[in-house]
Amino acid sequence: MAPPETNNKNVLDSVIYKYTSSSTQSDEENKLLKETLNKLREEIEKLKSPPLMVCEIKELHEKTAIISIPNGNQFCVNISDTCGKLRAGDMVLAEQKNLTVIKVVPTTKKFNVEKFVIVEKPTVTWKDIGGLDNQIREIQEVVELPLKKPELFKKVGIKPPKGVLLYGPPGTGKTLLAKAVAKATGSTFIEIVGAELVQKFIGEGAKLVKEIFEMARKKAPSIVFIDELDALAAKRMEIGTSGEREVNRTFMQLLAELDGFNELGNVKIIGATNRKDILDPAIIRPGRLDRLIEVGVPGKEAKLEIFKIHSKNMTLEKGINIKALVKKMENFSGAEIHAVCTEAGYFAIREDRTMVTKDDLVKAVSKVKKEEKLEGEDYLRYFG
Ligand code: ATP
Repeated sequence: MAPPETNNKNVLDSVIYKYTSSSTQSDEENKLLKETLNKLREEIEKLKSPPLMVCEIKELHEKTAIISIPNGNQFCVNISDTCGKLRAGDMVLAEQKNLTVIKVVPTTKKFNVEKFVIVEKPTVTWKDIGGLDNQIREIQEVVELPLKKPELFKKVGIKPPKGVLLYGPPGTGKTLLAKAVAKATGSTFIEIVGAELVQKFIGEGAKLVKEIFEMARKKAPSIVFIDELDALAAKRMEIGTSGEREVNRTFMQLLAELDGFNELGNVKIIGATNRKDILDPAIIRPGRLDRLIEVGVPGKEAKLEIFKIHSKNMTLEKGINIKALVKKMENFSGAEIHAVCTEAGYFAIREDRTMVTKDDLVKAVSKVKKEEKLEGEDYLRYFG
């Protein structure tokens, strides 16, 4: 039997142990609750605090800055002492009420431009283009020659145009010409669509233009192809809404890029539009896209050439009178002639044939004509 004092000591030890362990347990619980409380307080603070506005620093003065807010309006505002060193062009966060600049957005938002534009090494050759001999010659003179032989221009003492404007109805080969000249000069082909630039990248169009041209210089020789240029460079009577101001800023950036270019540098710009009539004359002023090349609906001979290009890999029935067939393609664009070939191929496939007959082609012409008519009617319905 254990001595009585040992017994008493054990009881005392267990009481002390119980007490201390329960006190550390409650200490821990207490700590945990305090932490949770702090976190919840922080969360409430976050929910209560108003959002900060992302702006761009335009100009810096001693203790103030001119900032541009996303809708294009500019303000002269104070700079908080916590801000650190600022530079014009920095993206910053500003208080909503008084627009005081609070802090710099850590990384200036740089686009991965290549995600937004099409960059490729095209495979289109001059032989893939039918009926545009004059246009090909002009584009060779204005784009290909200066890229390949800049010294020739230096010797003669003239400056070639910085770029060209291709204008004419849809589907007539403007993109093809731009791609073919990129291929002929081994240039990187960078394609931007004007409408996308102003609709998709609201507030960022001007920045994107700047970065696209930076990329073009890095990847030179390059051709910057701006399709639907009218969406960006249309004449504006007045610049009222913030959307219009945004388009205008993007356009101004484009002009600034064009003006900053060296005519004999290895970046060339090709603009394309179906609406030359609404273009702002600033874009076609000398020193900018001052060589205008019309790409119209193909004539009789041109249509024949285009048909031959697109049907060269097809197995056509013998004895088809191609000239008579092409006559039926009144007012067809190159794209529509291409569509005739594709549709005729489908008619053959549907009947399990690999040879395309005259009938297939005639049916295809009617089908494309009908679609063209429907498109025309839709156009009239919407635009009168
Ligand atoms: P948009 O104004 O709608 O952008 P676009 O003038 O740039 O049209 P393209 O994209 O060059 O037209 O042409 C569309 C397609 O039509 C081409 O891929 C090609 O298949 C065919 N095509 C158009 N014109 C010609 C042509 N002159 N020679 C051969 N194919 C042509």
